[in-house]
Amino acid sequence: MFNDLQKYGWNSDFENKFQQSVSKLGKTDLIPGRVLSVHRTNYDVMTNDGEIVCEITGNRLKDTDPYQKPLVGDWVVIETGEGDNANIIVYIFERKTILERRKVHSDVEVQLIAGNVDMAVLVQSLANDFNIARIERVLVQIAQAGIKPLIILNKMDIAENIDQVREDMKRIDASIPVIYSSFTTGEGLDIIETFLQPGETIIFIGSSGVGKSSIINTMLDDTEQQKTKEVSDYSGKGKHTTTARKLFVLDTGVIVIDTPGTREFGLTGEDTEALKENFTQIETLAGQCKFRDCKHNTEPDCMVREALENGELDRNLFENYQKLEKEINT
Ligand code: GDP
Repeated sequence: MFNDLQKYGWNSDFENKFQQSVSKLGKTDLIPGRVLSVHRTNYDVMTNDGEIVCEITGNRLKDTDPYQKPLVGDWVVIETGEGDNANIIVYIFERKTILERRKVHSDVEVQLIAGNVDMAVLVQSLANDFNIARIERVLVQIAQAGIKPLIILNKMDIAENIDQVREDMKRIDASIPVIYSSFTTGEGLDIIETFLQPGETIIFIGSSGVGKSSIINTMLDDTEQQKTKEVSDYSGKGKHTTTARKLFVLDTGVIVIDTPGTREFGLTGEDTEALKENFTQIETLAGQCKFRDCKHNTEPDCMVREALENGELDRNLFENYQKLEKEINT
């Protein structure tokens, strides 16, 4: 057993898969590892004997399918290189989850962000970054990926229109945890860790400058402090430069992935289940429409339109639902 890898999430199940892939690949000098960060031409990987730099070669390097390239959070098998020879990633374990997105306003194919993520912590700043439709969009995307959500609304100390924010947040399913926090006053920070399970992999997502690194730093001891780089702060909107996605382990045993700004989250899934889960009010109303396939346009006895007309259903909520639904269906 690779005991030192356990704190990165290694377990007997992986151990078995590793032994199987070793016998299949028929090579010696194979070791397992977890990808910590992804650079242009190489990868930092944690192994049982510490961190090493790895590369990919041959077919995997030429492959244009992004799923064939290692992601931060991936478990991989490495063929260790002697002397001047590089360490090569020769196998990627099947991923439990994949966090991915389509860049909005871009034809770029799906961008893969991280593998084997258990929980996504969605951070928005209450100082001019709050956007309920954007929260809904990310919730749908991560639900499609099978990743649990946690929402942090940060910068409570300089929050704008907090009453409106609380009103908007009623649109979010009550089962999803929401924390109002301030890195500056410390409000809410102790609650965050109660939602983070040791051994689970957590990814922080949100625009740059919303306070992700600051919040993560409060959970690290001094020596581990991930450097929050020079920041110029204009009216709460920080300029910031996290470059590579990076995986590290907190003292509590929680595994964290920090990402550079991930503001836009285009949907990648093709089924509407996650959408329905996150817009339960609309789903309930739609279930009462006369026609099962009601599009809520001109059909008679449409409960959704009725609820919009009598103000029971928030028009903005409905518009965002329609927008996301269209995105999934195209
Ligand atoms: P990141 O890009 O999301 O990682 O954001 P940072 O953690 O680097 O924070 C960006 C800037 O916002 C920094 O200047 C922080 O000190 C500041 N900041 C972070 N959290 C808060 C907060 O709760 N309140 C206020 N007023 N500033 C904050």
